[in-house]
Amino acid sequence: MIEIITIGDELLCGRTQDTNAGMIARELHTAGFTVARITTTGDTRDAISAALLSCLRETRFVIVTGGLGPTEDDLTAEAAAAAFGDTLALHPEAFAMLQRWLKRRNRTINPSQQKQTILPSTCTPIANPVGTACGFIMRHHGRHYLFMPGVPAEARAITEQFVLAYINEHSGRKHIIRSKTLRVFGLWESVIQEKLTNALNPDADVSLGFYPHFPEVLLRLTAHGPAAAVLDERLERARNAIVERIGEHIYAEGDESLAACVGKLLADGGTSLAVAESCTGGLLSHLITSVPGSSAWFERGLVVYSNASKTQLAGVEETILARHGAVSAATAQALAQGVRSCAGSTIGVGITGIAGPGGGTQEKPVGTVFFAIAGPDGCSVHQRCFSGTRDQIKTLSAFTALDLLRRTLLGLNIDGQGNFL
Ligand code: AMP
Ligand code: MG
Repeated sequence: MIEIITIGDELLCGRTQDTNAGMIARELHTAGFTVARITTTGDTRDAISAALLSCLRETRFVIVTGGLGPTEDDLTAEAAAAAFGDTLALHPEAFAMLQRWLKRRNRTINPSQQKQTILPSTCTPIANPVGTACGFIMRHHGRHYLFMPGVPAEARAITEQFVLAYINEHSGRKHIIRSKTLRVFGLWESVIQEKLTNALNPDADVSLGFYPHFPEVLLRLTAHGPAAAVLDERLERARNAIVERIGEHIYAEGDESLAACVGKLLADGGTSLAVAESCTGGLLSHLITSVPGSSAWFERGLVVYSNASKTQLAGVEETILARHGAVSAATAQALAQGVRSCAGSTIGVGITGIAGPGGGTQEKPVGTVFFAIAGPDGCSVHQRCFSGTRDQIKTLSAFTALDLLRRTLLGLNIDGQGNFL
């Protein structure tokens, strides 16, 4: 049996939502394990020690997050040492691991990082792929205690890259786990769920996990069993069944971002891109330039927020703005064509819309956004009406522009593509 313990005063006073417990439970469940209990405790030594020692009788694995930082209130290592009759000392293996981590990034060790290598002397450190605080394992009364930092990205990386395999190996289960991630944009989770009803053969023994990651949804297929080749074949069949239902919404598999996927398509075609953004305020350019090597396909991005800038920088005629308004199909088209011509790029993209919360009208409510994609064969214009906060509308707009580009470059259908589009 498995238990999870999350540690932190911020979790108890409701300031921080405990996302680690849910993440770990979901990962374990997907891998075919069951969690028997989740406990949350505050940042005091006694409370942490008591939680560690009061596990259920049948519990074999205890996964703990939080309290491994360098500050005064991070007491988990101390509490674990006290609970299991150990003492704290600078752990040579953890120290060497930290040095290697910092050296790869051309950094030197500082005192607070060094404190993170003071661990119970009998523990085994766990490498942290995304941070300086390592995790560690302790054995007590036949149980395996796996300690991780509380920072959600670090807890997730260690869970995915270490904890699952560790539990699989030490649980006596002769299984291996294989998984595949499909990345979806353009459909909400509930719609995907509906579209995928009965898509997977229940006998195929492949589980499907939904990981909403606004504004995308990641679908994780997992299979476990004794033989890798069999699992890979099962995963491939499950993948094909999903692609058959929602294939055009799946832009990539694995870790590739939507911007990277678009970048690859542009690079493959020797196509260059320039964008003129109004309501997204540079977010589209940010996403595009987050991809290493994007200078190969990205020529420029203009943030043209005021009417004057739309005219001066993107060449939008004043009469278009006066006749149709800044948020209009005509302005989006003029932005796309204007930036394309001043940049001399193969493709120009224009975005203009109302991110809210104010500024909406009955005709153009908050969330109305116009997109235009101008290329050698002409210009297409698309209107969407999103709902959500200002941030969400900006994010949805930038991602939608990328997805429109992806669909245009692939020659896919654009209209009627998604429920929120
Ligand atoms: P810690 O390892 O306790 O220093 O945690 C570092 C930060 O991670 C905290 O300040 C929280 O913001 C966050 N954190 C810790 N535990 C959790 C948790 N269970 N769920 C979500 N966030 C957490
Ligand atoms: Mg803490």
